[in-house]
Amino acid sequence: MSLQFVNEYGKKFPALVHQQSIVADGESTSVLFNHSLWRELGGDDIKPAQLVAQLDGEIPWPALAPLAQKYAGHQFGHFNPYLGDGRGLLLGEIKTPDGYYRDLHLKGSGPTPYGRGGDGRAVLRSSIREYLASEAFAALGIPTTRALLLTRTGGQIQREQLEPGAMLLRVASTHVRFGHFEHCYYRNLADTQLQLWDYVVERHWPSLKNSTRKQQFRQVMQSTAVMIALWQAYGFIHGVMNTDNMSLVGETFDFGPYAMFDRYLPDKIFNHTDQGGRYGFMQQPGIGRWNLQRLQVALSASMDVTEFTEVLDEYEPFIQQCYFNQMRQRLGLTSVERDQAKPLIASWLALLEQEQLDYNRSFVELEQLLQHPDKVNELALVAKDWLADYRAAVDEPDIKSMQAANPVVTLRTHLLTQVIIAAEQGDEAPLNQYLQALTTPFDRRHLDTHWAQPPAEEIEAGSLSCSS
Ligand code: AMP
Ligand code: MG
Ligand code: MG
Repeated sequence: MSLQFVNEYGKKFPALVHQQSIVADGESTSVLFNHSLWRELGGDDIKPAQLVAQLDGEIPWPALAPLAQKYAGHQFGHFNPYLGDGRGLLLGEIKTPDGYYRDLHLKGSGPTPYGRGGDGRAVLRSSIREYLASEAFAALGIPTTRALLLTRTGGQIQREQLEPGAMLLRVASTHVRFGHFEHCYYRNLADTQLQLWDYVVERHWPSLKNSTRKQQFRQVMQSTAVMIALWQAYGFIHGVMNTDNMSLVGETFDFGPYAMFDRYLPDKIFNHTDQGGRYGFMQQPGIGRWNLQRLQVALSASMDVTEFTEVLDEYEPFIQQCYFNQMRQRLGLTSVERDQAKPLIASWLALLEQEQLDYNRSFVELEQLLQHPDKVNELALVAKDWLADYRAAVDEPDIKSMQAANPVVTLRTHLLTQVIIAAEQGDEAPLNQYLQALTTPFDRRHLDTHWAQPPAEEIEAGSLSCSS
């Protein structure tokens, strides 16, 4: 074991927690265990079965101080004061050997008072989706929560149909969300709110401990913008950008009905509970700012937020800069000035959209074309004019940056569905293979494998509900 637990949250913020034990069924078995993350956290060698038994209540784990966190949030534009951990528990906080703080959180751990009658359970399907997405993002360098352990539980869970149950042990820099500050605002907990803010700043941005509130808010704004800029650059649609799903430190959080583009369809809505398209791909940067505005309003309970408006005004140019820098790397345009690169990026996206090309694969095909101009691939057939413009703008494309920024293997709905169905039927081999590929996404040897192929026919990603 020998994880170093520091469990301070419950002691510091009694008004924001409910002490709650895990209610497991004692029949869990391990499906996936992230050995390297376990070691990063400071854990000694352990068999996943032992960890499962500790979570399942068969072996005591006295170092844990499990609790449900209370928060609120704006969901699809409307304030909801009745939110909190309904099916997850903060098990404890760890200080890693490198001196970082990490939360250990178990999703699917049983009902809590904040679940308002929900069963408190998680299904294998969405737990697999979260596990794979977290680890794929970590490998891509997109800030994210992590996945440590996935178990299969004994019983079946009732959703639209009966499904196998699961628990997901997740690791985050913090589980403090924008919605925590909104809860404090609406419940007049000004002192608690300020302490919570300082707690996160001291733990995660210790160098900003004595900075102005404005500077600290700027850090939150920039972390949020960096994360969303990377979503945009890789074609990721989060699906539920409610303020309760926004981590204060800008980690991609609460993977639900997410999707990543196969073909580039920027106007497509992937979340079927999002009829109005509020959380569509193109809306995400703007929603990030809207959510930061909700945070600004909430923080007015405990601090002078007038200057935060200036910080919010920096958001748009900042996120643009992050986005274009990433796209320049993806297109090998690192030596090209931003203003010159911008029209090339725009015409690249227009080409992908017009020709309905696979988004992430096209970057890899471009890299191949630049290295082997007589290569025949899908892109070569339609990109002649664009390539002429490209070659006119850049003498030497930065192939190295392309190789480091363009994944061969990405989260694809049809592949997720395949490995989920196999796992539900007891075959975990495809799941393990896909995970292995997703965590080495830049390895060109995957290129001709099953795990790098776009779907034969576009498969709609819209049938995944939020609260699974
Ligand atoms: P999410 O869609 O995962 O962001 O969840 C929104 C809210 O609903 C959170 O407060 C969750 O804890 C709660 N919730 C979602 N699913 C369940 C469930 N099966 N049981 C109890 N609460 C849930
Ligand atoms: Mg057991
Ligand atoms: Mg959530």
